[in-house]
Amino acid sequence: MIEQTFAMIKPDAIIGKNTGRILTMVEDSGFDILRMHKVMLTKEGAERFYAVHKDKPFFNELVEFVTSGPVLIMVLEKDNAIAEWRKLMGATDPAKADQGTIRSLYAESIGKNAVHGSDSKETAQEELSLFFAPPAPPQQQAK
Ligand code: UDP
Ligand code: MG
Repeated sequence: MIEQTFAMIKPDAIIGKNTGRILTMVEDSGFDILRMHKVMLTKEGAERFYAVHKDKPFFNELVEFVTSGPVLIMVLEKDNAIAEWRKLMGATDPAKADQGTIRSLYAESIGKNAVHGSDSKETAQEELSLFFAPPAPPQQQAK
């Protein structure tokens, strides 16, 4: 099923100048980039985005990291996009990420791990509407 997911390139990958290499992997893997925008998250915005993690020991560090520099936020579309983007990202901890995944190539650590992706249909809906309104029109019909 054609889906849209929310993706983000995090500050470590932007500062490391890996944006182009990551976007090439996105397109080579068959995703359509429907929207793309470079922004600085505010502390409040980051806290809201990561609210599900607010009781975790790494929460403050995570908010500080993700607001430390610009992020590239995207709407990605593909068949089964939510799971496919998680697969291309690789595991949260780059030491555990499969070879060839974005995190295995470009993440520094479990915290500074280059990319974000929604983890379910519900999360994708929430995250897309948090950052992109109105929703992006689908592109697949145009092919
Ligand atoms: N994170 C961290 N320490 C941890 C686990 C996660 O700093 O022990 C950060 C990391 O940047 C991760 C984000 O918190 O990407 C969200 O964690 P989640 O478990 O949702 O991982 P993801 O969905 O990004 O793979
Ligand atoms: Mg997550």
